[in-house]
Amino acid sequence: MTKSDLNKYRNVLEAKQTELVHLLRNRDGIAITKCADSLDEVQYATERELAIRSLDRDSNLLRNVRAALDRMEAGSFGVCLHCEEDISPKRLAAVPSTAFCIECQEIADRSQCDGAETLDELLITAA
Ligand SMILES: [Zn+2]
Repeated sequence: MTKSDLNKYRNVLEAKQTELVHLLRNRDGIAITKCADSLDEVQYATERELAIRSLDRDSNLLRNVRAALDRMEAGSFGVCLHCEEDISPKRLAAVPSTAFCIECQEIADRSQCDGAETLDELLITAA
């Protein structure tokens, strides 16, 4: 990977990180407003559930983005954490925060459907 490729990914990742931090910080405000509203209980529970789920997703994403930036510092960005092959440029362009090549990701996704633990734990176990 060239230096200019790395810089390009770093810019994308840093922009994403800023966006997610901002999003997660503002989320608290939204939750409080909703709490004060006179939504009925079922609706409130649903809204809350949705909010928690997207909060989960965003904080996972933020963790991935930060881990990718760390790997960039360490010089291992773009290498699959599991099989240590290079991750294809196409995949990195689509998901710059990814830590796994497409093959390992697919294996992990499939196993996850079978009720396996999180991706990280799964790959640690598999390694
Ligand atoms: Zn791999």
